[in-house]
Amino acid sequence: MGRAVVICDFDGTVTETDNIISIMKKFAPKEWERLKDLVLSQKLSIQEGVGSMFSLLPSHLREDIVGFLKQTVVIRKGFPEFTEYCRSNDIPLYIVSGGLDFFVEPLLKGYVRQAEIYCNKADFKGNAIKINWPHSCDQYCDKDCGCCKPSIIRKLVEHDDKVVVIGDSITDLEAAKIADIVFARGFLAEKCSSLGIPYHEFNTFTECLELLSELKEVEV
Ligand SMILES: [Mg+2]
Ligand SMILES: [Zn+2]
Repeated sequence: MGRAVVICDFDGTVTETDNIISIMKKFAPKEWERLKDLVLSQKLSIQEGVGSMFSLLPSHLREDIVGFLKQTVVIRKGFPEFTEYCRSNDIPLYIVSGGLDFFVEPLLKGYVRQAEIYCNKADFKGNAIKINWPHSCDQYCDKDCGCCKPSIIRKLVEHDDKVVVIGDSITDLEAAKIADIVFARGFLAEKCSSLGIPYHEFNTFTECLELLSELKEVEV
């Protein structure tokens, strides 16, 4: 097969739980729940919804939020070995996340280099947290994704690369639609099955590693 390129989600995929949800539950006033429901039911774009959710949080919470996540986040089983496997087999691995740099980057330290992380940028200059969107949709996407995974994939992969998408939620759906191989769990798995998108269900990165190495052998 062509070169495999892994595009991996962060929240709820690398980490056991969704960090944006954890942050909101801990720090935001109740309105965040209505915004989350609107995003999940696709009535509000991810960019609008997540932008509004973070605007509920005062900027001075920055250190508290990072400290809270560092203490509570659980990295999914097998992830360190998976990054190691990709590195030693020359399989590019990118973390493409709708999360924010101020927590994604510290939590991935030691696993993935910063140059391989694509995420949104938090701006703490104002009273409330503002999000900058350096990876918004290209001309082929009109979904107002915020961090547009399909646009990033189009930038990163070459013609005969095999795109492997790993994810867990609505933000991975557009990427899953253009992937060659999908590893899905949670809401993404439900969505793929209702839309007829082929996928492998996974719970740990150990399973992703095994499947990826099997696929590699089949194609040689
Ligand atoms: Mg996710
Ligand atoms: Zn998009």
